[in-house]
Amino acid sequence: MMSPTKDSETEQDAGRAPVPYRLASLQSTLGQPTVLDVGGRRIGGESFALIAGPCTVESREQTLETARVVRDAGATLLRGGAYKPRTSPYAFQGLGQEGLRLLAEAKAETGLPIVTELIDVHDVDAVLDVADVVQIGARNMQNYPLLAEVGRSGRPVLLKRGLSSTLDELLMAAEYILKEGNPNVILCERGIRTFETAYRFTLDLMAVPVLKERTHLPVIVDPSHAAGRRELVGPLSLAAAAVGADGIIVEVHPNPDEAICDGRQQLRTDEFAEYAAALERAAALGGKTLAGREPALA
Ligand code: PEP
Ligand code: MN
Repeated sequence: MMSPTKDSETEQDAGRAPVPYRLASLQSTLGQPTVLDVGGRRIGGESFALIAGPCTVESREQTLETARVVRDAGATLLRGGAYKPRTSPYAFQGLGQEGLRLLAEAKAETGLPIVTELIDVHDVDAVLDVADVVQIGARNMQNYPLLAEVGRSGRPVLLKRGLSSTLDELLMAAEYILKEGNPNVILCERGIRTFETAYRFTLDLMAVPVLKERTHLPVIVDPSHAAGRRELVGPLSLAAAAVGADGIIVEVHPNPDEAICDGRQQLRTDEFAEYAAALERAAALGGKTLAGREPALA
């Protein structure tokens, strides 16, 4: 166990370099990037992860159809929410256990590992039964008991940046997970609040190279929630690859006009293969290979 620290030790002490995030810092691995193994897929390092799927699990057909399309296009992992953190308490809150069951079925059929969100410590066992990667959403980035819980689980965690959180706050949130002995953390830039109202959030792509200066953890980008509309998702994804992201998490739906949530921003399944091919080329320009297509280890 680490000894308790005075507040002053986590801030900039006069004359001493601050190391507020001891385990997340790049110095802690002597500059080596962390590479996660999720069901045999590498996340981080030379690999580029393509995480794709619906915003929320709505039905068996919608989930399985999306899973097949993204698998065929080379996706690394399948995303889909069973528990949804919604701004309005009257909005659809997710299918819960039934949603998890459908994700398990999609995994069994396609072989794709699953990323799904945990919003409540009470659901941790149910989510861990299905999730290969547990998502902590932007609204829970500073839910410290939840971070500690997923830390203790040891399961890979996809930690999204809070709507108005600084990069230091994101790294300190990651530290809560790492401190419990779980080294498997993926950071995600998903857009932040600014004065601009022309799009849903401002995608802070500068976060990628700056996080890479500070941490060994993989950094991925969510263009869907930042953009709020699908026309912007392609260009933002290419830009994220160009700026050095370790992957993308993107929303896809067979019929976005009928989607229960985030329909406007979800890519259509019939445009996904083309999207994935363009992204793979952009990742290659940045020196990365789509996860699962790397040359075999010697
Ligand atoms: C999501 O990925 O489904 C989601 C709700 O994203 P965020 O937490 O970034 O808003
Ligand atoms: Mn969504």
